Amino acid sequence: MKILLHRIARGISGLIFVIGLLWGCARPHSDQLQRSSQTKVLMGTYVTVDVCYSREDARVLLDAYNEVWARVQELQEIMSLYEPRSEISRINGSYPDAVPVGHELYQVLDSSIRISELTRGAFDITVFPLVHLWRESGRAKRLPSKMEISQAQDRTGMRFIELLEDQRVRLLKPGMSLDLGGIAKGYAVDEAARVLRSRGFKDFFIDAGGDLYLGGQSCQGTPWRIGIRNPARKDQIIDIVEVRNQAVTTSGSYEQYVEIGGRNYSHIIDPRTGFPQEGVVSATVIAPITYEADALATALCVLSQQEGIELIESMGESYGALLIVSDSRVDHLKLVPSLKYQEHRLPKF
Ligand code: ADP
Ligand code: MG
Repeated sequence: MKILLHRIARGISGLIFVIGLLWGCARPHSDQLQRSSQTKVLMGTYVTVDVCYSREDARVLLDAYNEVWARVQELQEIMSLYEPRSEISRINGSYPDAVPVGHELYQVLDSSIRISELTRGAFDITVFPLVHLWRESGRAKRLPSKMEISQAQDRTGMRFIELLEDQRVRLLKPGMSLDLGGIAKGYAVDEAARVLRSRGFKDFFIDAGGDLYLGGQSCQGTPWRIGIRNPARKDQIIDIVEVRNQAVTTSGSYEQYVEIGGRNYSHIIDPRTGFPQEGVVSATVIAPITYEADALATALCVLSQQEGIELIESMGESYGALLIVSDSRVDHLKLVPSLKYQEHRLPKF
């Protein structure tokens, strides 16, 4: 619980947010839909679900909300490292046996392997031994030794996850631990969107601690508009994107990090070096599916700026990214809408 609250406390001042909600709910025109909003603490963060509905759908809406929350809770129970009885925890203690898992976890593992290949190893759900080492080092306020890093690295590697027939999973090295922190929230958002659509709602947004999915359009019939804040000055909006049936997610070192010797170390690990990623302060990704956007945003923090831009450009029209890059301070950002990117200079701050 302590870990949970700690993470939530850090995760609330979101870098991306839906613009125009306040005036939107003031007084809808007669042909406009009403907006309903519910928030719950799930998956280690605040999950908000806003739905546009008409009066006659009010009852169905309540059922839809109940089903959404039950589904997200169920996914948390499957994918959380902090629940000892979760499916992921069962895999983590299972070496050398094969473990049968449900279709959700099997699909997330399969997708994680695909995204790892796509990002040349930058996205890596086996990094937990390193995540744990750096987190503990942060608590003890000392850098881990080379030896500790290489011992933790020895317990990582995507090629040591084996997906077998009949939805079974086997880890091929002792001491391995899988960590779905970079993809599970996105998957839960996709599932919430699927539930809402199955109940007939098409205009909605879901925000799970910075992993957003925007279904259809806003309750005023305009595109959803997402503001992206400057991580160094939260009152400054550096860009606005308009989206429809797309996910927008952000990852970065601006909120979650450990401090050792006056330096901040990101919670995202570069699996190639065993060190926390640096360079990219935040990566915002637009994609058609939230779990992809979630995982890609994590990967773009690890990849070099050039590699990240090339990756997103190779992925087709419905993918975009915005990187805030720094050596020691936020410097500039790149926006990649539909295969072409422009470079913006940020105002000095
Ligand atoms: P947030 O949890 O803030 O939304 P991310 O989606 O970027 O951020 O996920 C970061 C989490 O993913 C870390 O806390 C850790 O659990 C895990 N992680 C760290 N490094 C990697 C990596 N290289 N690939 C995949 N997951 C990672
Ligand atoms: Mg992520």
